[in-house]
Amino acid sequence: MKHWIERIADELKDWDVDNHVVASGTSISGSIHIGNSCDVFIANAVSKALINNESSSRTIWIADDHDPLRKVPYPLPESYEKYLGLPYSQIPCPEGCCESFVEHFQKPFLDTLDDFGIELEAYSGAQMYKDGLYDDYIRKSLEKAPEIREIFNKYRETPLKEDWLPYNPICKDCGRVNTPYAYSYQEDEISYRCSCGFDGTMDIKSGDGKLTWRVEWAARWKIFNITCEPFGKDHAASGGSYDVSSIISREIFDYKSPYPVPYEWITLKGDAMSKSQGVFFTPGEWLEIGPAESLYYFLFRSKPMKHKDFSPEMPFLDFVEQFDRVEQIYFGEEQAASEKEEKKLKKIYQVSQIQNHTELPFRPSYRFLTVAHQIAGDDLENIYQILKRNSQLSDKMASLSFEDLSDSQKEQLDKRVTQVKNWLDKYAPPFVKFQVQEKIPPVTLSSEQGSFLRDMATLLEERNLNPEELHDEMYTILRKYDLKPQKAFQALYRVIINKKMGPRAASFILSLDKDFVIKRLRMQE
Ligand SMILES: [Zn+2]
Ligand SMILES: [Zn+2]
Repeated sequence: MKHWIERIADELKDWDVDNHVVASGTSISGSIHIGNSCDVFIANAVSKALINNESSSRTIWIADDHDPLRKVPYPLPESYEKYLGLPYSQIPCPEGCCESFVEHFQKPFLDTLDDFGIELEAYSGAQMYKDGLYDDYIRKSLEKAPEIREIFNKYRETPLKEDWLPYNPICKDCGRVNTPYAYSYQEDEISYRCSCGFDGTMDIKSGDGKLTWRVEWAARWKIFNITCEPFGKDHAASGGSYDVSSIISREIFDYKSPYPVPYEWITLKGDAMSKSQGVFFTPGEWLEIGPAESLYYFLFRSKPMKHKDFSPEMPFLDFVEQFDRVEQIYFGEEQAASEKEEKKLKKIYQVSQIQNHTELPFRPSYRFLTVAHQIAGDDLENIYQILKRNSQLSDKMASLSFEDLSDSQKEQLDKRVTQVKNWLDKYAPPFVKFQVQEKIPPVTLSSEQGSFLRDMATLLEERNLNPEELHDEMYTILRKYDLKPQKAFQALYRVIINKKMGPRAASFILSLDKDFVIKRLRMQE
């Protein structure tokens, strides 16, 4: 059974190419999020699969930083509207913390690549123009402007004007790159007029302009000898960018277009991600709450054109649980529903791996840790005891004391606890949050509720129970006092966390310090 990433690598292997180049590109129009960085994750995985397949491959990433700013990205103020139309490369850093707007938005993304095990060569579109990498392609495109115009016109309702050129100079007066109209050229000099009223000329070698997108894309393929490229589905529409750039690549630059990997957008809680409206989730934010491999798992568990929705809130707990389960299946600690399912899940896990773990990483239940952390804070040893008391450890680990854990196991536990803490701080809804009350909260209990709590205290004092046994015993007691379960549990939560509801009662009780619970249930300070 092959994963779709491996199938792409298999097909590429049949191309008559010595060195594959898998390209990705991201527009620097604001924060780089998990939706528009799909490019990079897919490209990197395809490259890896090619290398595993005994081919040679490298991954490149091109920052589309010479394109015009079309919308002010969140959270920048309205005053940034004065930069609309300017190439990103010409806009200053919004907070004065880095060299430029581009660096400001791409740095947080590039900083996460190590954690995701991504190796790539990064290029700046603007710098490529400055360095003259596009010069020959610009000359050729100007010469062949009539042919390119005809290709474009096949897909346009209103044809381009006779003097149209596939090049956008940056206006020397207003600085915009989306308003000047280039109408003639001689040697390397282009004449243009801008809607700001300016009429001027510029030299293509200056880098102060760019090829029209679809021509630029085709030129880029040949410049880097790109053989595969993932891209958002908007480029994949029939008659869209990929189709048109492919024709230009073949007919103008004599180059076979790369193997396309179109992918579907990722929605955030059902909404389209939008950099201008601040609806997005970044790879950096992912690392704050979940394992790096789980983002790969999220992207690779279904085909690239399949719709994916992400929510960092409650659904994230189910997601992590699912990821953990797949990891356990991979390491043979858990059974899949069928052999076919097992093969499939192991494959997905395998392509999602970063450091090639040789044994199951120590990742105790995320959901359970949301409770344990709220009881024990960052005290890892205490958390480990709580896990133990609640049968949350594998058979192998249950016999180990905290001191017996290896450094890497302690590190893994620490990492997960930190992620749980971040999740609680940023995304947890109020009903999962609680605080154990140091003093007895002011509560009024019925006499049956009081008796229930006192019997519970005696039970805990006399016997050592596991969560299931305690659960059963609690029901025996509440029936004895003819209490509805809801009333009994309410009493428990009220005296301990001063809330009507709380985590699952039995394991919650067992997670707390035993002496503390017994005293509290007897209402003793
Ligand atoms: Zn900055
Ligand atoms: Zn202008």
